[in-house]
Amino acid sequence: MADDAHAARATAGGPKGAPSNTSAGGAKAAPSHSNIASGSLTERRFLAEGSERSNVQALIGGVGAAALGAGTYATWVHDTPMSFAPYLFGVGTLAVIIAAVMSSSDTMPLRVGAAGVAIERGGAQPERIAWYEIEKVGVEANDRVVVEGAKKRIVAPISHHAAAAAWILKEALERIPKRVTTPLDQLTPLLRAADDHAEVVPVEPMQLAGRRCKASDVIISFERDARACTRCGEVYDKKHTPEKCLTCEAPMAST
Ligand SMILES: [Zn+2]
Repeated sequence: MADDAHAARATAGGPKGAPSNTSAGGAKAAPSHSNIASGSLTERRFLAEGSERSNVQALIGGVGAAALGAGTYATWVHDTPMSFAPYLFGVGTLAVIIAAVMSSSDTMPLRVGAAGVAIERGGAQPERIAWYEIEKVGVEANDRVVVEGAKKRIVAPISHHAAAAAWILKEALERIPKRVTTPLDQLTPLLRAADDHAEVVPVEPMQLAGRRCKASDVIISFERDARACTRCGEVYDKKHTPEKCLTCEAPMAST
C-alpha cells in the first residue's frame, strides 16, 4: 500500500514530463504578431527566497508585536497603569515599523516574461515595465538588478531574487541587448541562476488600441490595425510596420 502511494506520487509530481516550449524566453524570431493576439503569452513568477534577513525581520516584527501587546496589557488591562507601558509602546511600534520597512520591495514577487518585468506590490495588478519601455537594465552595487523605464523602477535583489535577477538579464540580453548597461562578462556568473523552477503563469495580452505607432506616431484606433513586436512589445500601425522593429531590431512579419 505504502509503496503504491509512493509510486503514484512519483509519477504525478514530475514537472519534467511536459516539453518546455517556454524556456526559450519567448524571443522567437518569427512570426511577429500572431502570438500576442492569441493570448498564449506567459511569464515566470518568482517568490522571494528565504534569507537571514527575512528571519531577522520576522524576529524584529515578532518582538515588536509582543511589546505592543505587553504595552496594551500594562496600560489598559492592568488595574494601575504601569509606568513602563509607554516605553513598551515605543519599542513595539519602532520594531514593527523596522520590520515593515525591511520587508519593503525586496521580498515582493517578481515576474519576467513576454510582457516585460513586473513586481507585485500588493495592488490589483502587478506594476509592469514592458520590454520596449525599458530604458536601461543592469547590475547596481554588485547586489541587485535594476530595471528602469516609463518612470518606474523595479529592483531584484540578488540575495532574495537570484533566479528572477538572472531571468531579467537573460531575457533582456535576448530582447533588448542594447539597453543592458552591465558588460556581459560581469553578467555571466549571475546568469547561472536562471533555472526552470519558477511557476509559469499566463499573462494578459497587451492592449494595443490607443497606443502610438513607433514608426509613424499615429494613434492606433483598432486592435486589428496594430502589429506588435513579440520580442519587445513595441507596437506599429499595420500600414507603417517596418521590416525590423525600431526598438529591438527583431524582424517584423509583413502583412
Ligand atoms: Zn521589438
